Amino acid sequence: MEYFALPLQNLIEEFEKLPGIGSKTAQRLAFFTLNRSEDEVKKFASAIINAKEQLCYCSVCQNLSDSKVCSVCSNSSRDHSVICVVESPRDVLQIEKTNEFNGVYHVLHGAISPMDNVGPDDIRIKELVGRVSGGDIKEVIMATNPNLEGETTAMYISKLIKPFGINVTRIAHGVPVGGELEFADEVTLSKALKWRVEL
Ligand SMILES: [Zn+2]
Repeated sequence: MEYFALPLQNLIEEFEKLPGIGSKTAQRLAFFTLNRSEDEVKKFASAIINAKEQLCYCSVCQNLSDSKVCSVCSNSSRDHSVICVVESPRDVLQIEKTNEFNGVYHVLHGAISPMDNVGPDDIRIKELVGRVSGGDIKEVIMATNPNLEGETTAMYISKLIKPFGINVTRIAHGVPVGGELEFADEVTLSKALKWRVEL
């Protein structure tokens, strides 16, 4: 049974396909969209189409970019001998926000996960190996997520690129800032102890 006119039903269904959007929220978004001016709706629709059409993967770091080589990879003031390996473009943004890293990135677009049928060839590992085999790389920082998939990926890549004589490091994991020890789980706490630093 159809409750809404077909164009409205279609719009609701499209919103429903978005991650984290249930049917109630999809309906709310659809009605919100209908209440916007035609101009605003066209802007919204073309932003989606333009993003899809104009973005490509940087030929060096594989991050999303609107040019063949992204702004980080083409920036000569950054240290191109240090590569920080992350799972997604959003991780690049997070690290950039810290203002602590002046090297370059490599975006894997996922992590090795046998449970989900994601193997090493399904993410951008061979592109990374290509980069490090080209020489001039001093350090590769593995900044994959601190979960099973992220650790597996970090170990796998480390084994692949260490033979090139590159220093492979892993970001430290520990007790969150502002957190309290009694609320940290054992794995986090044991990692925090293992990777302790001198004061
Ligand atoms: Zn790049």
